Amino acid sequence: MTTDLHQLDDGAWISVNDSRVVNVSDLWRIARHEFCTCDLADFLAEGIVEVGVDPPNIEARFAGQCIQCGESGVTDWLTAGRVINPDDGEFYSVVPESVHIPRKRTRLAAAE
Ligand SMILES: [Zn+2]
Repeated sequence: MTTDLHQLDDGAWISVNDSRVVNVSDLWRIARHEFCTCDLADFLAEGIVEVGVDPPNIEARFAGQCIQCGESGVTDWLTAGRVINPDDGEFYSVVPESVHIPRKRTRLAAAE
């Protein structure tokens, strides 16, 4: 069984296996990034631009802004959560407020 991944409501939600699991409006702490000049960006996600799977990670690029410096744009790939076992499809969310390091690309871009 593969993981069924979609964006819903114009990028407001990520749906995994028909459950809405990730919403925007979370504050993400992003380190080692090129989004803005802050060492540790406080990034407010306002929309989901792309979603992808790099098993077991569910990854996404978010549009939004850094609330420290005001820079706005789109992040590189962030891990939004994991599906450890594709057979049960259970989604484990990351904690957005902990520190995340974006990556340039995800191995396997899926979904629309
Ligand atoms: Zn910033």
